[in-house]
Amino acid sequence: MQKENRLIKHWQQVLQKLEQMRKQTGSPQPIQLIAVSKTFPAEDIATLYYAGQRNFGENYIQEFKDKTVILSDLPIIWHMIGHVQSNKSRIVAERAHWVHTIDREKIAQRLHEQRPPHLPALNVCIEINIAAEENKHGIAANSDAMFALATKISHLSRLKLRGLMCVAKAGSCDTELREQFMQMHSLLQQLNQAGFSADALSMGMSGDMGTAIACGATHVRIGSAIFGHRQYIK
Ligand SMILES: *Cc1c(COP(=O)(O)O)cnc(C)c1O
Repeated sequence: MQKENRLIKHWQQVLQKLEQMRKQTGSPQPIQLIAVSKTFPAEDIATLYYAGQRNFGENYIQEFKDKTVILSDLPIIWHMIGHVQSNKSRIVAERAHWVHTIDREKIAQRLHEQRPPHLPALNVCIEINIAAEENKHGIAANSDAMFALATKISHLSRLKLRGLMCVAKAGSCDTELREQFMQMHSLLQQLNQAGFSADALSMGMSGDMGTAIACGATHVRIGSAIFGHRQYIK
């Protein structure tokens, strides 16, 4: 009980912060909170679901699968925010509502082919490697690479291109964060100017959500500020 109350309290604090920040930016749209539940048990997700949270994000395919099975009675909106390997794409195509990490044509093609016909098109974001980090996934932060992948996605009827996603470089100062997030904002504008209709800018985590929102984030992915410190088993 105490653990549940603490979880709900932290979640409410994040919601309040988001609302404050939304007011500061003057944005009419509420910012979507994706609660990133990786490494935390399904019961924590259920607790927040019953408190009113609907969007949850997971990184690892096996963990995603297990939790979607356990929680299949709850109409949760599931976001895959981790890298999707081709040989594990089917489970994502069958169970996710959003995939934020499209960074190559092959994975888009597979998700399209594997998306069950009775489900609506899968919402996808193109992942941008915004600080050109060697160890990170995502396409290069230039409009040619983005237009090429966006064009491919637009030809796949079982996918719906919603926007762009990034993870800012760890250890960036506020000025560096702002540069990265403003570049994302600019890329999304270019996408829309080119005739794609993309409304989602998925950026901002527990440590940088304020800056991300100031730069136009529409979806923030918040883990530790809600669930607490993660302990990795692997
Ligand atoms: C883990 C993770 C998050 C959440 O990070 P926190 O710092 O715990 O808020 C967001 N996005 C991605 C892609 C992640 O892997």
